[in-house]
Amino acid sequence: MRTWRDKQEFKTRVFEWADRLDVRVRSLAIRPMRNKWASCSTNGNLNFNNELLGINKKLGEYVIVHELLHFSVPNHGKLWKSLMRAHLGNYERLETRLRKMSM
Ligand SMILES: [Zn+2]
Repeated sequence: MRTWRDKQEFKTRVFEWADRLDVRVRSLAIRPMRNKWASCSTNGNLNFNNELLGINKKLGEYVIVHELLHFSVPNHGKLWKSLMRAHLGNYERLETRLRKMSM
């Protein structure tokens, strides 16, 4: 299983995706969180659960794209789903795997 080398690698990836998705990240934190993998606000503040660092990179990638897309699409509707598919392919598989992980 490939996991993230460190926080910095994860953060770098977030900024790479932000560039690709053309959104602006104003603040980014990786810290302990209860009951969720991440949170975001429409003004560009992102928080990720530090437990993501210890699990498969692909799942972290899913969470990163999921949150960044919420900067422009605030729901999980058709548009969001088609963007997820365009960027991650079969993202539902990752979603299911992530749901099965305990936090
Ligand atoms: Zn969401």
